[in-house]
Amino acid sequence: MNRNDKKKVFRMDEQTWRIVDNLFGATVYSYLLCGRNSAVLLDTGMGLTNFKGLTNELTSLPVTVLNTHGHLDHISSNHQYEEVFLHPADEPIILQHSQKEFRLNTLRQLLAEAKMPGWLLELPGLRGLVERYASLPECNRRKPLFDGMRFDLGGRTLEVIATPGHTPGSVCLLDIERRQIYTGDTCCAQGVLLMFDHSCSVSTFRDSILRLKAASDRFDLNWPAHHQTPLDHSWMDDYLGCVEQILSGAPAQSSIKNPLGNGLLMKNGRIAITYRPDHL
Ligand SMILES: [Zn+2]
Repeated sequence: MNRNDKKKVFRMDEQTWRIVDNLFGATVYSYLLCGRNSAVLLDTGMGLTNFKGLTNELTSLPVTVLNTHGHLDHISSNHQYEEVFLHPADEPIILQHSQKEFRLNTLRQLLAEAKMPGWLLELPGLRGLVERYASLPECNRRKPLFDGMRFDLGGRTLEVIATPGHTPGSVCLLDIERRQIYTGDTCCAQGVLLMFDHSCSVSTFRDSILRLKAASDRFDLNWPAHHQTPLDHSWMDDYLGCVEQILSGAPAQSSIKNPLGNGLLMKNGRIAITYRPDHL
């Protein structure tokens, strides 16, 4: 593993690794979970890291990809693997987020948010990277991921918990024997985005957090896909409090305009939820 790749990998225990992918200040985590017989790679980043090269160095076991949801920062190296699972409700999203023009637009927005000029993308030194990010090889080998599905890796069992909200096909993954949960973009330390066209209602998201809370006697720590890791149970209460504020009609702190969707922003404790007032 070269020095650059080493910086991307964090060893959580002898069979578990967190892999980081980043682009213009945006950072996302994927997780490699190994058992005795096989391994699961939970999400595949933005397409700038050679995931297959990394996972080949970390394990000789066959690796199956599970996507927590269909957004572009979680699916972009799917094509490097033979077996990929995604909840079918996110199929339209993954198709959109694999398109070149959509991906280039998102890159321009990322630059604008980072207050960097758009012409950076035309620089000869960056053109190769931009092309690699924007042009994903076709990947149509997906299998459906459903609530309650179990993956037996050999001495390590993973269970899917459907948590629609951020996207309709968002799932969390319970690492049963190790008492850990991986929550993708559903329960991270900054909050959740529910203002996309494809996001579910705030009430649906509340039900998902309640499902996580009901399962909380089965896990100790939560490893989300962004920001601080790991998180304890108390973060779920921040989410529930925020959802209750929204549903009780409390005024939002601010409105947000984002190329990916406009909405309101409600803060509670350490987190914030963006949502649409007509989609409660
Ligand atoms: Zn997402």
